[in-house]
Amino acid sequence: MKPIRWGLIGASTIAREHVIGAIRAQPGGEVVAVMSSDAGRARDYATANGIPNAGSDLAGLLSRGDVDAVYISTTNELHLAQALAAAKAGKHVLCEKPLALTVADALAMVEACRKAGVVMATNHHLRNAASHRAMREAIKAGRIGKPLAARVFHAVFLPPHLQGWRLDRPDAGGGVILDITVHDADTLRFVLDDDPVEVTALAQSAGMAKAGLEDGVMAAIRFKSGAVAQLHDAFTVKHAGTGFEVHGTEGSLIARDVMTQRPIGTVTLRTAAGDTLLPLDDEGLYVRALRQFHAAVRGEGQPAASGVDGVWSLATALAVLESAKAGRVVRVAPGL
Ligand code: NDP
Repeated sequence: MKPIRWGLIGASTIAREHVIGAIRAQPGGEVVAVMSSDAGRARDYATANGIPNAGSDLAGLLSRGDVDAVYISTTNELHLAQALAAAKAGKHVLCEKPLALTVADALAMVEACRKAGVVMATNHHLRNAASHRAMREAIKAGRIGKPLAARVFHAVFLPPHLQGWRLDRPDAGGGVILDITVHDADTLRFVLDDDPVEVTALAQSAGMAKAGLEDGVMAAIRFKSGAVAQLHDAFTVKHAGTGFEVHGTEGSLIARDVMTQRPIGTVTLRTAAGDTLLPLDDEGLYVRALRQFHAAVRGEGQPAASGVDGVWSLATALAVLESAKAGRVVRVAPGL
């Protein structure tokens, strides 16, 4: 099988903890180079992760003939320019969420990739979880009747090694809404197979985030079908556990421990007939995302979450942010 060779843009934690391994888990998946803003950091990162080439020059990485695709996992304000440059260089693009800081910028990234004829994906790992896929399938099969409402519990404790730019850099897209609410928005769209229309939200700064950033939020979202969803996201909550529920006219789906990076958790289908645990596989979320991405590069499918999906999740999160600031209902405007 022809290899798919990756360049990493950003010497990040997420690449080290999840994505490098997911690339290497694919037949033909290779990581050939890493780029950091700091040459020394790039070298150290390359050595620590067994990557043969390192540098601090984006143009240098993108001019490499042995790089087919790039994974962008820098801080969020950098994604736009890096994605545009990668598309121009003819590289396929897997970009971290949020795609950018404005919807217009995210749309420009999608358009640049479309024009260049390269695959673009957003790294929304949660729609790759067996739990969320099982919920989507159960809803499509009519097992809960018509979905009326969803509840997302995604209030967690930001681990100490990630307590950096998310808490004090508004310019980098810090704050819990651009970090976690984007994932909820994508997962809700995926599970419900529905698009958000409007949101209302209250945010808090409960002592962890600084510089005007929020570290907790509760929001309500109305979808096109009329279904409503509520979510609670936070960096500050140590012991709540996570969950995702969908309640329909004939039954409920109750998932626990599923807003996570690992293939864990349970999904219970509850109807008049009683409770049934849905069977779940345990494929890694990022491994599946990379598998789909590689298939798309080979012309054999679509990425799990496209660039357009990333535009939707960003538009929803920005509406939540605006609603929390302005104190009113805000329409979700993906500009598509
Ligand atoms: P990190 O803070 O680990 O990395 C972001 C950037 O910070 C890196 O590109 C690097 O810059 C710089 N950096 C990292 N470590 C250091 C250090 N020790 N000293 C100096 N600079 C450092 O962020 P994350 O990996 O948590 O997040 C990166 C992106 O991935 C974000 O867009 C985030 O939203 C997204 N993300 C997505 C997840 C998902 O599941 N989809 C999960 C976690 C994050 P440089 O490259 O220039 O060296």
